[in-house]
Amino acid sequence: MDPLHPHRPATDLAQALGFGEPTTGALVPPIQASTTYERGPDNQLLAGRLYSRPDNPGYELIEAVLNRLEGGTASAVFSSGMSAATAVFQALKPGDHVIVPEQFYWALKNWLFGWAKDWGLEVECVDQTRPERVAAAIRPGKTALIWAETPANPSLAITDLAAVAALARQAGARFAVDSTFATPLLSQPLSLGADVVMHSATKYLNGHSDVIAGTLTTRANDAFWQRILRIRAQGGAVLGPFEAWLLARGLRTLHVRVAAQCSTAMAIARHFESHPRIVACLYPGLERSPGHAVAARQMSGGFGGMLALRIDGGAEGALRTLSRLQLWKRATSLGGTESLIEHRASIEGPTSPTPPDLLRLSTGLEDAGDLIADLEAALAD
Ligand SMILES: *Cc1c(COP(=O)(O)O)cnc(C)c1O
Repeated sequence: MDPLHPHRPATDLAQALGFGEPTTGALVPPIQASTTYERGPDNQLLAGRLYSRPDNPGYELIEAVLNRLEGGTASAVFSSGMSAATAVFQALKPGDHVIVPEQFYWALKNWLFGWAKDWGLEVECVDQTRPERVAAAIRPGKTALIWAETPANPSLAITDLAAVAALARQAGARFAVDSTFATPLLSQPLSLGADVVMHSATKYLNGHSDVIAGTLTTRANDAFWQRILRIRAQGGAVLGPFEAWLLARGLRTLHVRVAAQCSTAMAIARHFESHPRIVACLYPGLERSPGHAVAARQMSGGFGGMLALRIDGGAEGALRTLSRLQLWKRATSLGGTESLIEHRASIEGPTSPTPPDLLRLSTGLEDAGDLIADLEAALAD
């Protein structure tokens, strides 16, 4: 690629950065299954590769595409979003102070609170929709990491990434962002000042509900990043070669899928924002949404394919609506081709801060009118 005329993301994605295999002419990379690599008679590795726990050649294309989309220096593919996220926390030192949102990905919050206690991390939950709360929580010299998730799961709350990044920089803390809901197309946290961006590649990046994977992308190839890479290589949180191949394939259509999902989510949000049975329609694309102004500033090309509806009648009303749906699939997860709907409070249990009347929706690639009609029918008395 000519550095003076960079391609747009759609071009980089569709052609996987123009991939071609010189020896065969193949336009699709092979699956490299070998776990070990040969040495020559001089006992030197033939191609610098030793063993497949540290990495696999099948990661390289994915990592290069992510570097391009996120504007990062280096990326690393992991065996899940959780293993990517936990590597960031594991790279911290006992005694470090960490600021996390009040509500973020449930499984990560659960893991962090258990593990942090044993590891000696001090974790503090802060309402990150208000940067002044983050500023007040920072302990200079002690706060090592601010972790954000935006749009957040399942509240769709928006964090002002540039504002929090500035606070982190001032305090000498690292700033990491779970950008799973935003995808690398709608928001680039590194360009707003984040140090590390994380994706559950299980969701939009792969996009077909058939791979568990995660990624990290860093702004700088520094000592912290090297610690993260060692955690992956030594702990073995590596993706299998076939899963990496599927992920690389899924990535080629990311832009087309995300554009359709954003447009469907917006259509659903508009349709239901003033519906008599909807108590609140949570979608950052709606002008009345509290995070709209910030989202409009830090996202481009859409507001994502995720939304949440709060249904009148509390948990019972929400569960009855869920039970009547014919087309939406009742299942957890997000970012696939099929639209999914879920009652988060049942998943998260009695300590969950998620309102009991909330249904979380992941829009897929079906016809938007069909999806709206199914919801309308399920909401009818
Ligand atoms: C799914 C998800 C994760 C965890 O990823 P896995 O691939 O399931 O391990 C983390 N953060 C967010 C926002 C997610 O949606």
